[in-house]
Amino acid sequence: MFCRVFCADILGIEARRICVEADVSGGLPGFYMVGLPSSEVKEAKERVLRAISNTGIDLPPRKITINLSPANLRKSGSGFDLPIALAILGAMGILNPAHLRDTMILGELSLDGKINPVRGVLPVAFLAKEEGLKELIVPEQNLKEGAVVPGIGVYGAKDLKNLLQRIADPQKDYVKSADLDHVLTEEKDAYPVDFGEVKGQEVAKRATMVAVAGFHHLLYVGPPGSGKSMMAQRIPTIQNPLTLEECMELSRIYSVAGLLGEGPLMTHRPFRAPHHTITSAALAGGYLIPRPGEISLAHKGVLFLDEAAEFKQETLETLRTPLETKQMVITRSSVQTVFPADFMLVMAMNPCKCGYYPDRNLCCCTEADVRRYFGKIKGPILDRIDVCIGTKKVDIKDLKSDGRPMTSEEMRRQIILAQKKQQERFSGVGILFNSQMGPKEIKQYCQLDREAEALLDKAYQTYNMTARGYNKTLKVARTIADLSGMEKIQKEHIMEALTYRNAFVERL
Ligand SMILES: [Zn+2]
Repeated sequence: MFCRVFCADILGIEARRICVEADVSGGLPGFYMVGLPSSEVKEAKERVLRAISNTGIDLPPRKITINLSPANLRKSGSGFDLPIALAILGAMGILNPAHLRDTMILGELSLDGKINPVRGVLPVAFLAKEEGLKELIVPEQNLKEGAVVPGIGVYGAKDLKNLLQRIADPQKDYVKSADLDHVLTEEKDAYPVDFGEVKGQEVAKRATMVAVAGFHHLLYVGPPGSGKSMMAQRIPTIQNPLTLEECMELSRIYSVAGLLGEGPLMTHRPFRAPHHTITSAALAGGYLIPRPGEISLAHKGVLFLDEAAEFKQETLETLRTPLETKQMVITRSSVQTVFPADFMLVMAMNPCKCGYYPDRNLCCCTEADVRRYFGKIKGPILDRIDVCIGTKKVDIKDLKSDGRPMTSEEMRRQIILAQKKQQERFSGVGILFNSQMGPKEIKQYCQLDREAEALLDKAYQTYNMTARGYNKTLKVARTIADLSGMEKIQKEHIMEALTYRNAFVERL
């Protein structure tokens, strides 16, 4: 007897359809698995046989052959347990294979027959829909995730026994898919923090707003306790809300990483702040089976590196390519996996090892010490930072003042207007934000009036700026002009952009 069921394997954030075929025949009893299974999949044998037996089904001693096709793709993950079990039961005639013809199945089995959650249910649900299948069987804990995709019936299975009863029952009750637009509008304002809580720091807050508006990468430099991480944490509260498309892409990443948790979707822009001891692999993604790293978990949100100078040089180096290409490509035994990684890089660092340079009352680092300290993040990563801002300890009078600081809502409103301007400007150009302009776009869209041009030329000479620094200033000035609703970049916009140069760093 023979039975075929469908399941799926995950590659990057995409799912591929896999057929599980079971054949039961006479001959010496045994269990054979072919079709390039990884060691994880091979272990399914023990789990599947014990789970079936502990569900109260006595399998007759037969020769069982399992084939996973297409045979040339390496299969990994524990989600194959359940489809293998059902294929065996189908081939033994214990369940009717016709009941599983239009069904995709995914789930890991415990020895007692319980069905455990697996990663990557969301991309699998999308695949099942694309393949025109009618039903999806997933572990109960993954039910919400699977039910996101409209047009397909989803069943959350608790254990093998219940599932078998359900498959035999002709009156199947499907879970309806979630109302996606509703999910997004409901969650929009649910941030626990707000920029209104940051007192003083008006200059740094303004710089943060400029950076977010133009999607510029940002560096805070300042002594300990000057509110660097406090501000960074609040960046997602002023970013524009996720679009449905962004939300789906981000949710696929979190689904594959097994991090979706309770909610069926990622409805907020992520904020990831890995510790400086993180390894390159955990940052970029990629173990034996490639999984999304921190840079992909920060997709469409913020990757915050606090104490940036403490990160290992080689760890920071892994950021280089993704910052350029907005994706991470991992190659393992000739298979390429691609994870999206389009994040806003925000770094924070002390101005020197002790943290108080240039305050000579507190800092006794030599100029050479300071230079060495900054040297750690110099080069390609620093080149990608458009906005650099010094933070200071909050003044006592600001701390006690009753004045109302600008709230996240107010900042976000201005940012969204500035981003609308950019999207109108770049429609058809293939970019979204000012920070993504190349030399051609800079020439076309960063027109200066005469006064502004004279100022920038003078700064170029005086500060001994590089061509890259010159272009960065233009891009940031473009964003500042957009924030004030101006078509042409004016003198004051250039003046403000010049203050965000990483002058402090360049000088060393
Ligand atoms: Zn110092």
